[in-house]
Amino acid sequence: MLKQYNYVGPSEIQAQLNSVPFSQPVDTAQSLLQQLHQLNNDLHESPFLTVTFVIDKEGNLRICDRHQEHVACARGRPVLSAGEMTFAYQNADYHLERITNQSTGYCPEPDSWQVVDSALKQLGIQYPDFFEPAYDFRRCPRCTQINLIKDNYYYCAVCETDLPAFWNCDQKG
Ligand SMILES: [Zn+2]
Repeated sequence: MLKQYNYVGPSEIQAQLNSVPFSQPVDTAQSLLQQLHQLNNDLHESPFLTVTFVIDKEGNLRICDRHQEHVACARGRPVLSAGEMTFAYQNADYHLERITNQSTGYCPEPDSWQVVDSALKQLGIQYPDFFEPAYDFRRCPRCTQINLIKDNYYYCAVCETDLPAFWNCDQKG
């Protein structure tokens, strides 16, 4: 059974969802290229394009402009994974260079890689072997701040309380 992640971020963001266009599933290499072109046109053809992504409950990849929240990309629904993808743009083509699970809205665990792997495999494109970097997220049991763990430092960035060993981001205090 795959773990589903519910949105765990601030509720005021979720309230804005109705103004966001719903992303279409990326189910072929062609649809990926089309959506990347669309996003890159808005960004004036820079050499690198970073996008927000989610893997929806059906296992489909969805991508959005990186300035959109993951919860907007998923239209408020639970996801199987989320993060950011960076593409290099060269010779009118895109190469997927880097994938992270950085999403403080959903806090997906590193082992959600398996659903990212499955979604990308069906596109028939080349992609990295794992999240880089792979993040762990913990919610502070004292002040409820979501912390992004770096260098095995398990202390809250706000109040320095010890953070638990296991994922707890869905516990809102
Ligand atoms: Zn704290």
